[in-house]
Amino acid sequence: MRLGASYFGNRILKHVREDMEKMLYDGCNLVIHTMSEHDITYHSQTMVDIVKVSREVGLEVFLDPWGVGRVFGGESFSTIVKLFPESRQRLSFAEGEIKVNKACLNAKIFKDKMLHWLELAAYTGAEGIFWDEPHLFYGEFTDLFGKTRIIWACTCPTCKDIFKNCYGYEMPLDLTEDVIEFRQSTILNFLEYLSNISSKKGLKNAVCVFPVSKPKYGIYQWEKVVKMKNIDVFGSDPYWFSYNEHVEDYVGKTSREVVQLCEKYQKEPQIWIQGFKVPEGKEEEVSTAIKVAFDSGVRNIATWCFEGGACMTYISSDRPEMVWDIISKEYKELRKIIS
Ligand SMILES: [Zn+2]
Repeated sequence: MRLGASYFGNRILKHVREDMEKMLYDGCNLVIHTMSEHDITYHSQTMVDIVKVSREVGLEVFLDPWGVGRVFGGESFSTIVKLFPESRQRLSFAEGEIKVNKACLNAKIFKDKMLHWLELAAYTGAEGIFWDEPHLFYGEFTDLFGKTRIIWACTCPTCKDIFKNCYGYEMPLDLTEDVIEFRQSTILNFLEYLSNISSKKGLKNAVCVFPVSKPKYGIYQWEKVVKMKNIDVFGSDPYWFSYNEHVEDYVGKTSREVVQLCEKYQKEPQIWIQGFKVPEGKEEEVSTAIKVAFDSGVRNIATWCFEGGACMTYISSDRPEMVWDIISKEYKELRKIIS
């Protein structure tokens, strides 16, 4: 049974050690440390030390390319897209070239930067990588006359070339069936490329997809991720407060789907619990979510994030201490059931 949480917002080693000890005491045996572009640039040795301390305490460690290239989940800025503007995702606008601050998953410079990130990740001694919500830009735009248009990425020259080679005609600007498929395969190829290299370096690979299997989220056929050779852990993050859904239904439905697919390919199912932006008075729903994931057969449960998001205004729960106490109580209960 794996029970854990993500951790970020602190790079002072002695405080990291205290927090890791607290996580262990609170029922965790897994920590997902974020490793942003800022970290690899300014905290490379610190990250090695943080992983070492976490493992010494007794936690399994996964590293998360938090907001790297702005194509993974994470409240972190990207320097790559500023330094290499040609590597940005280009939008499907007919009126002119518009690029967003997200790296193109087919851009060689970005893939090279991801390899650099992986080098450090492997060097830290972490057990695995947590590939969180890899995605391409999608948006809906209403023009002057009230017509809503779907705007998507990526339409850069590299993507256009790949599209033409695959489908035998120029990439259209509309979100056609072929474009939907192309966007998904772009993300899948990116994941496969990185997980193969990561696996060769002795790291495990965990992937988390958005809890919605619709084309606009990029990956709409989860099975294609689960069946990848070097994906060891597959999961999703049914954050019911964020999607304004009912906790039991949403966490239950997503968990069952994840478990079913993982059983088919002998992979480890993982479910993420929303422990951030938890509204006052709704804290008990976090407890329900953990129970529902467990009852659905999930034995790798992780919470985003440590201490209810108290370290970050943008995602903090209204009463973060209470949220973490509930998570800890549930984790300890599950340990008793399992043992
Ligand atoms: Zn592109």
